[in-house]
Amino acid sequence: MFGTPTPLQSEANLGIMKEDHVNIILHGHEPVLSEMIVAASQTKDMLDYAKEKGANGIQLGGICCTANEILQRHGVPPAGTFLQQELAIITGACDAMVVDVQCVFQALANVAKCFHTKLITTHPIAKMEQDNVIHIEFDEHHAMEDAVKIVRMAIDNFTKRGADVVIPPYKETQIAGFSVESIKYHLGGTFRGTYYTLNDNIINGRIRGLAGVVGCNNARTKHNEEHIMLVKELIKNDVLVLSTGCSALACGTHGLLTPETAAVYCGPGLAEVCETVGIPPVLHLGSCVDNSRILLAATEVVKAGGLGNDLRDLPAAGSAPEWMSEKAIAIGQYFVASGVYVVFGYHMPLDGAPVFKNHLYNELEGIYGGKWDCEPDPIKHAHKIIAHIDKKRKELGIDKARERVLMDMADRQALGME
Ligand code: SF4
Repeated sequence: MFGTPTPLQSEANLGIMKEDHVNIILHGHEPVLSEMIVAASQTKDMLDYAKEKGANGIQLGGICCTANEILQRHGVPPAGTFLQQELAIITGACDAMVVDVQCVFQALANVAKCFHTKLITTHPIAKMEQDNVIHIEFDEHHAMEDAVKIVRMAIDNFTKRGADVVIPPYKETQIAGFSVESIKYHLGGTFRGTYYTLNDNIINGRIRGLAGVVGCNNARTKHNEEHIMLVKELIKNDVLVLSTGCSALACGTHGLLTPETAAVYCGPGLAEVCETVGIPPVLHLGSCVDNSRILLAATEVVKAGGLGNDLRDLPAAGSAPEWMSEKAIAIGQYFVASGVYVVFGYHMPLDGAPVFKNHLYNELEGIYGGKWDCEPDPIKHAHKIIAHIDKKRKELGIDKARERVLMDMADRQALGME
């Protein structure tokens, strides 16, 4: 609906909020109204109105996957993950928080009550009972009017800030907005866009394999720790990471989404590829509902050839190290049923059902080629993925380093390649 994203530069973390600007935080999962708020906040009328009220501009920021939606298409910087939604309000600088559906804390209204923040719900199923919450139900027939109303409300609220504004001065640069199409372009250029360059580097071993690391933040672990330890261990072992959701937001706030990261954290093979092509070792592919992009990219890898005939043959795996949403289970099963080995972190509530657990962890592999697994320790989690990748490399016969042979014309003709 809103077009295929293309890579762009932005920033991440609470430090994107600005003390001298009207700060509007967009939170939830549906990009429809937030697209309109992005448009409304850039109009001359709104910018003039903000100046009239003493602000130097309007700063938008995102939380959760609405953050990823407006990041990947407009470069709006995310203020944080699922677990940072209350923190955005307690900066004292959040003039309005607009929420739609899913991952919205029940306590948000109570936190907003302690500050000047206007909390605005926009979807009937996200309505809250507390009297400080304003409900402006989104309707596509008057989307722009609703967006203008919300932006104006935030501007009016700028003058009501308390004295204690504390915005943590931390933010990182990030490159986000990768898609199936842009990976093709980055690897082959406009005229020779192809996934074969990626396959070639997997076959020659510079890239050991692929891992889709996705999903939520879990309040039962230290913020972002499982994501970051896992991703660093994977890229250190030459595994290219494709990321979405709060996992991608975590990687952004920890500075893992820039091409320069490769020289610091990657194994030599992956670092060489990232440096040559100019991509980060962790590719941000969108929100948690964009996981289909990871499977489509994997399908392109199969189609490009040389790595088997099906997703189940690829040296690849999926992971949700801090999952907490039921939706993560559905997405995980979608990957397993597509032939992917999927490892969840933290805990799977299966110990009371050993027969079913065996079905998910073992028997499914015989049906789909993919199966479930669980490993709470992020380093062991990474090595389960790496062991699976190495098993697939062996099955494909690409587990041994090969001498590079420079071929002359006669050699090429002998192979039937003119
Ligand atoms: S990744 Fe999980 S926590 Fe984050 S926005 Fe999506 S469902 Fe919510």
